[in-house]
Amino acid sequence: MRKGVSRALALFMVMVPLFAGNSWAAARIPVFVSILPQKFFVERIGKDLVDVQVMVAPGASPHTYEPKPAQMAALSKAQVYFAIGVTFERAWLTKISSANPGMKIVHTDQGIQKIPMAVHRHEEEKDDEREHPDHGALDPHVWLSPPLVMVQARNILTALQEADPSHRSEYEANYKDFVSMLVDLDGELRGILAGKGRLQFMVFHPAWGYFAHSYGLEQVPIEIEGKEPKPAQLKKLIEHAREHQIKVVFVQPQFSSRSAEQVAREIGGRVAFVDPLALNWAENLREAASKFKAAVK
Ligand code: ZN
Repeated sequence: MRKGVSRALALFMVMVPLFAGNSWAAARIPVFVSILPQKFFVERIGKDLVDVQVMVAPGASPHTYEPKPAQMAALSKAQVYFAIGVTFERAWLTKISSANPGMKIVHTDQGIQKIPMAVHRHEEEKDDEREHPDHGALDPHVWLSPPLVMVQARNILTALQEADPSHRSEYEANYKDFVSMLVDLDGELRGILAGKGRLQFMVFHPAWGYFAHSYGLEQVPIEIEGKEPKPAQLKKLIEHAREHQIKVVFVQPQFSSRSAEQVAREIGGRVAFVDPLALNWAENLREAASKFKAAVK
């Protein structure tokens, strides 16, 4: 009998901190984001007031992602969904929204002027462009430019303040810290890439259009409208790389890179990784800037 009581007491002692931990976690606002860099942004502004879940798992592509049944279930408990305009959202946002009609959907890319997805054209082909005005999609990779992340940060701040008005001032203070960090990072990236003229970098999937635009670089994509290039197009890319003394072809972990390897082989260069979807967002951009710079020595 005594043994039973003390065992129950011991169990109670173990459970109390567990429950305390749980109720503390439950006080956080459950929110969803589409991709890992957004987790970085929302956590900068929400700190420990938010619990952020990411839809597109590490290694998956936000262009083709399909949410898992467990994620659709988890959505029913979320208070806010931070959309960013990546391709899979187009197909899923209605379903995501109907999984939890009470959940607020925030378009963090609101207020950003998007540019067309980059397609490589050789000089002699430029005339065609006039006959076939932009028919491609707009570039969704707005999280790779610190000035554009400032716009997203503002949208995130507004949404968190609306969802949790009792912590308005905390969110505001965190937001200000985040923006000053973005200003510093922007200056740092300018510093790394300064004096490089119109540096060209070749990349399989053209995720770096806004980054290139912000820092005066030129992105030369290998992928053409989401597909591997045809042999004739590949030949032109190889010629272009030779002409411009490009020695590195960038790829990202989420895409296959056969044609990138082929170009690298033909120009006697190498393939290198830059990840547009890393969680450690700021450090990742610093690294990417250094790699782009080193690629044209
Ligand atoms: Zn992409």
